[in-house]
Amino acid sequence: MSSDSGLRLRPDEFPREFPAQQQEPPGLTGDMEPKPDHGEESYHGSRRLAGLRALITGGDSGIGRAVAIAYAREGADVAFTYLPDEERDAEDTNSLITDAGQQAVAIPSDLRELDACRDAVGSAVDELDGIDILVNNAGFQMARSVGIEQISPEQLDRVFRTNLYALFWVTQAALPHMHEGSCIINNSSIQAYDPSTSLLDYAATKSAINNFTVNLAAELGPRGIRVNAVAPGPIWTPLQPATQPPERVEKFGQDTPMGRAGQPVEVAPAFVFLASPVEASYISGTVLGVTGGKPVF
Ligand code: NAD
Ligand code: MG
Repeated sequence: MSSDSGLRLRPDEFPREFPAQQQEPPGLTGDMEPKPDHGEESYHGSRRLAGLRALITGGDSGIGRAVAIAYAREGADVAFTYLPDEERDAEDTNSLITDAGQQAVAIPSDLRELDACRDAVGSAVDELDGIDILVNNAGFQMARSVGIEQISPEQLDRVFRTNLYALFWVTQAALPHMHEGSCIINNSSIQAYDPSTSLLDYAATKSAINNFTVNLAAELGPRGIRVNAVAPGPIWTPLQPATQPPERVEKFGQDTPMGRAGQPVEVAPAFVFLASPVEASYISGTVLGVTGGKPVF
């Protein structure tokens, strides 16, 4: 590609299988083999989000990091949350944002509590003086080989608090600092459409996120605030080796029509497009699939 904007990818070089590997949640980028592509070398921005301010939850790694890099290279300042255990990843993401010439705000926060959600949003607003783009990206899953009876109360609580309670609480806290022209983008999943039995609880939260997205879009439309979601298919991020058994990691993504997992950088452009007040000015209440060919309806 000769253009000096957009993506310069070599998808034919992306891995189609992975070495068996396992991590403890939340998982770290440095312990993954191979390393994911977040766009470090391949994403070139063209100021499509110039002057905007974004808050991304779970922006230290994976899809959140790819979105942080893309937003910064499109000219946005970026605040992001991360878990205290993810300090190493957060430092790298922070540098990638500042290397793009934008302000970075790294906020350590476990969003399973209401006060933590309020404090995290407060820190972002204090530093950025407002929020134009809210990306509800933080999420948790844990694959199981056993039935519904074996889902522990602790696991259910962790999945629902991270994926749903925090979604409500962060959005509630952010909205007073958003305005006409702002937008919210939620990270859904192919699991909302094609659920795996091993992810019964997680898949239910992703379906709820889709419902939340269209319903909140209806509520906020009159205020000029757009609400959309992205539904990724299998993407190579720390979440996978931290929550799937090694034998599943090896074949991760092979069951898609494209026959491979996606890289985080391949999801980021959907978040850029939906965030753009020009390109997506009339788009609200929709879910954009980035699934390697799996249907999202
Ligand atoms: P990731 O591990 O890189 O990112 C998930 C982030 O969520 C973590 O970095 C962490 O900071 C954050 N998080 C987890 N628990 C948290 C808590 N209690 N409080 C605050 N933050 C917490 O993995 P990812 O795959 O990039 O995940 C990002 C989003 O993408 C998630 O919502 C996930 O459900 C969604 N998703 C991922 C895939 C995939 O195949 N990787 C597919 C569809 C959807
Ligand atoms: Mg992480």
